[in-house]
Amino acid sequence: MRELSLLQHIYAANAEMPAAVVIPPGDDMGAVRLSDATLLVTVDQVADGVHFDLACDPLPGIGRKAITRNLSDVAAMAAKPLAAVAAVSLPRDFGQDRAEQLFDVMRRTAAAYNCPLIGGDISIWPGKLLLSVTVFAEPAGVLPVLRSGAKVGDGIYVSGQLGGSLHSGHHLSFEPRLGIARTLGSTPALRPNCMIDLSDGLGCDLPRICQASKVAAIIEAEKLPIRTNCDWKNAVGDGEDYELLFTSDKLTPAPGSIDGVAITRIGEIVPLSHGPVATIRFQDGRVLDLSQHGWEHHS
Ligand SMILES: [Mg+2]
Repeated sequence: MRELSLLQHIYAANAEMPAAVVIPPGDDMGAVRLSDATLLVTVDQVADGVHFDLACDPLPGIGRKAITRNLSDVAAMAAKPLAAVAAVSLPRDFGQDRAEQLFDVMRRTAAAYNCPLIGGDISIWPGKLLLSVTVFAEPAGVLPVLRSGAKVGDGIYVSGQLGGSLHSGHHLSFEPRLGIARTLGSTPALRPNCMIDLSDGLGCDLPRICQASKVAAIIEAEKLPIRTNCDWKNAVGDGEDYELLFTSDKLTPAPGSIDGVAITRIGEIVPLSHGPVATIRFQDGRVLDLSQHGWEHHS
């Protein structure tokens, strides 16, 4: 099964959504309009053997990630978290002490980001540990930044460093870029035309922006902010960076850093052509299809 084709099948029904759905499936969060406000919603699951390894990853890191992974989606919209609910399936032999530790970490992590864990559901089952977290958020004065606004000529920017997330432990300890995203979204001179968080790697997530915006992209390999001991393939394909990827026609020069986190210009949005939607160009002139190096879920 290919996740991308399943998602495209799901998105194809977006036209049938009622008018109250202001952001349909296909972005980092969906949104419904209340009688006088907009509520953004996202749900994400982390599963033992897919997003963490219960046998070797520390339990606090796992509980933290279940929350922060969703908060990274909130950051991608430049939204403000409101509250979270969690549905957790515990293995039969998990044990009371570990369950309490897990829920304490989830509750404390959520609270630390002003996103209180207000409810959920627990089941005990014969499978592996599975945590599904739903987060609600609000625009709070900042219009959500969608994936669909990239324009030809935009610079492509990324926060922080890319690559090696699983090796370095970054996939458990990363900081969701909520503050940076709010600064970008609320400052007219900085506001991105589109934004996404890098969960599956530049090779997967940049094509998502391109498809939503009906444009193409060129990345300059030597501009990539690559984590120590990593190479360009790690930066493009490892995934789980949870950094912001955004485009803008205003940032010349780039701000350098926001809240102490580097902001790097890595490429440019170009018109759609017959070639690959996203490419990476090297100083020796080679140009490769970026999407061949992203990470896609398979089963
Ligand atoms: Mg996302």
